[in-house]
Amino acid sequence: MDLETRAIHVGQEPDPTTGAVIVPIYQTSTFRQPRVGEHLGYEYARTGNPTRTALQEVLASLEGAEQAVCFASGLAAEDAIFRLLSPGDHVVMANDVYGGTWRQISKVHQRFGIEVTAVDLADLDATAAAMRPETRYLWAETPSNPLLKILDLAGLAQIAHDNDAKLVADNTFATPYLQRPLELGADMVVHSTTKYLGGHSDVVGGAVCTDEGTAEELAFLQNAVGAVPGPFDAWLTLRGIKTLGVRMDRHCANAQVIAEALTEHPKVGLVAYPGLPDHPGHALAAQQMSGFGGMVSFRAAGGIDAAKTVAETTRLFFLAESLGGVESLIEHPGIMTHASVAGTELEVPDDLLRLSVGIESADDLLEDLLQALDR
Ligand code: PLP
Repeated sequence: MDLETRAIHVGQEPDPTTGAVIVPIYQTSTFRQPRVGEHLGYEYARTGNPTRTALQEVLASLEGAEQAVCFASGLAAEDAIFRLLSPGDHVVMANDVYGGTWRQISKVHQRFGIEVTAVDLADLDATAAAMRPETRYLWAETPSNPLLKILDLAGLAQIAHDNDAKLVADNTFATPYLQRPLELGADMVVHSTTKYLGGHSDVVGGAVCTDEGTAEELAFLQNAVGAVPGPFDAWLTLRGIKTLGVRMDRHCANAQVIAEALTEHPKVGLVAYPGLPDHPGHALAAQQMSGFGGMVSFRAAGGIDAAKTVAETTRLFFLAESLGGVESLIEHPGIMTHASVAGTELEVPDDLLRLSVGIESADDLLEDLLQALDR
């Protein structure tokens, strides 16, 4: 079955006893057991819950993974991946990952002996040179947040595997509808399902999609550490996933219109959107993705004050963190989402604005941005 069909049906058979077409929210913390030491598949909701199982099954199917393991947030999913490491292990990480990912490895896991090197993963030679015998993960995010850099996933998988390491790909921006890193050689795909997969800015969640053996280790952590999504969160994410394809088509179309219009505007400096022919990763994106996504970043020609004015005067683009919902958002990464990397090698330009282009009318969105740029 095609991805759009699987998004609606995999793991989501109608309930066998009632015929309910939609997977119920199994709002229960525990499950009655017929005999001591026997159960019907579920014992306790931290260990497993049928709504979460449905979500894990559909996510695994969409990414082409053997299994998926869901967590309470994208960062909880990343935490579980890092907990598979031991003191002395090393990670080579893209030098423009989501600020929270960098904060987690550098401020949390480093204290427990995990080492990290930030590298421009678009430079495959520099990446290969950064690998050490103790490197366990090569950590990529493509398109990256917020600079929308495109990384060569197949090339990175080769480098990781030549060095007995695993390629972890954060596929939050692209979603499996536009890009499937496991097909390109990645070993683990991590998601903030908070974003396009949930799609409606009403739930926080995360997932790792991977092979059975790794998933088993992650499921152990899911239960042993306990950062699990509740049944309602799993249900909201499941509902969002059903419309992933149609939403992504519209996000991509709107973002293309806006990116093209911004490049023409005198008050706009660089426009970063992989769908623009002069974006350095355009050809690679066209090859490894089936669309260019809904995120657009641009620099305000007038500097940080001009950037702040635009962010504070749009009406349809709400000034807010996060991304991937049906509504459009604008934010200032330097002060907002990426404040935690200020003063580090991951710092972003202070005149940069990031748009999460929603699925409203492209004309209305454009008019809103133009009036804010004219202030
Ligand atoms: N990865 C990317 C690319 C993100 O943008 C985010 C959040 O913004 C995360 C991971 C973290 O996910 P969460 O906020 O669900 O913990």
